[in-house]
Amino acid sequence: MARVALVTGGQRGIGAAISEGLKAAGRTVVASYAGNEAAAQAFTEQTGIPCYKFDVSNFTACTEAVERIEAEVGPIEVLVNNAGITRDAMLRKMNRTMWDEVIDTNLGSCYNMCKAVWDGMNARKFGRIVNIGSINGQAGQLGQVNYAAAKSGIHGFTKALAQEGARNQVTVNAVAPGYVDTEMVRAVPPDVLQKIIARIPIGRLGRAEDIARGVVFLTADEADFITGSTLSINGGQHMY
Ligand code: NDP
Repeated sequence: MARVALVTGGQRGIGAAISEGLKAAGRTVVASYAGNEAAAQAFTEQTGIPCYKFDVSNFTACTEAVERIEAEVGPIEVLVNNAGITRDAMLRKMNRTMWDEVIDTNLGSCYNMCKAVWDGMNARKFGRIVNIGSINGQAGQLGQVNYAAAKSGIHGFTKALAQEGARNQVTVNAVAPGYVDTEMVRAVPPDVLQKIIARIPIGRLGRAEDIARGVVFLTADEADFITGSTLSINGGQHMY
């Protein structure tokens, strides 16, 4: 039977491409979203992938949603923690709410969601978790101390949790996208975007499908010797 994959924020942007990529790879895919009903409805109509609405920054909501999905669809064996937000400002102008929202949504969600699926994956002795980090968590970015801290935290979280799951064939990896052409990046002022593209050796923004391909690779049944790694997909913008 096809393994069930849950992609948070999986109905638009990078998440939608990941959901579609996993479906094409033979997974039974479920997407989650925060509140964009129009995007969720259009995505389900177009792909047949069901969308579940819950707030990934809310621990109880995540626990209850996982219970519901597992009862309705089946045990979650592939989890992609993709949902994320930005609230950019220089530290001088960044208030505590902007800090908390970004940390809770981008990093707290990884704890909430992994905690909800962890015992089941370990008991079944199979699991594939991919956390979506960012080039800005690897390299830092002006005006993003909240986002860079959350994404950098994801990379540490991944390496620590990978050690806990290794003996039970539960792998935990991260994908660190560079700048990808989604609504998140379309919000960047055009002059700033041109400067960003000029710094990408491959000479273009990433496509959501570029990121999805990496996630499909890391979540394959055969990828059982890859854990605790970060796959950078950024057109060569940041190499290390
Ligand atoms: P989008 O803004 O296009 O989509 C964000 C997704 O996350 C939406 O599905 C949204 O749901 C969901 N979401 C946001 N907040 C919550 C929440 N509290 N609870 C549940 N779901 C939530 O983002 P991208 O596709 O651009 O980014 C996807 C991931 O990739 C993010 O983690 C981002 O940080 C990361 N990334 C993106 C890069 C880029 O260049 N775009 C670069 C590097 C990393 P809804 O539609 O309902 O609001």
